[in-house]
Amino acid sequence: MSRQGKALHLCREYDRLIDRVNDLTKSIGNALNGCRLAAEGNVDKNGRTITHLSEAYASFDMGEAAQLEILSECSSCGIAHKHVHDRKSARKELGIIKRQMRMIGRKGEDEA
Ligand SMILES: [Zn+2]
Repeated sequence: MSRQGKALHLCREYDRLIDRVNDLTKSIGNALNGCRLAAEGNVDKNGRTITHLSEAYASFDMGEAAQLEILSECSSCGIAHKHVHDRKSARKELGIIKRQMRMIGRKGEDEA
């Protein structure tokens, strides 16, 4: 692939992944709207809504099994957790694309 072709490909991938991250962020919010803990209106000391997801993430020091047990109590938070995982993967891919874009940018304009 030519340098220009590769640059265009990276731009398209960048655009696709930005959309993916944004879509997943919306999906996380939508899923959490179905959480009954959130519906009760409880907030933590920082004013953030308490959900099974936030409770599970707050108890990360208790291990993955404990987190999964908390998440198993709420299908909405289980779905949100899956979206959080997918968003993490998309952000990782985005980081790779950005590094590749920088490498192309650094090579200089005179290179083909
Ligand atoms: Zn929940």
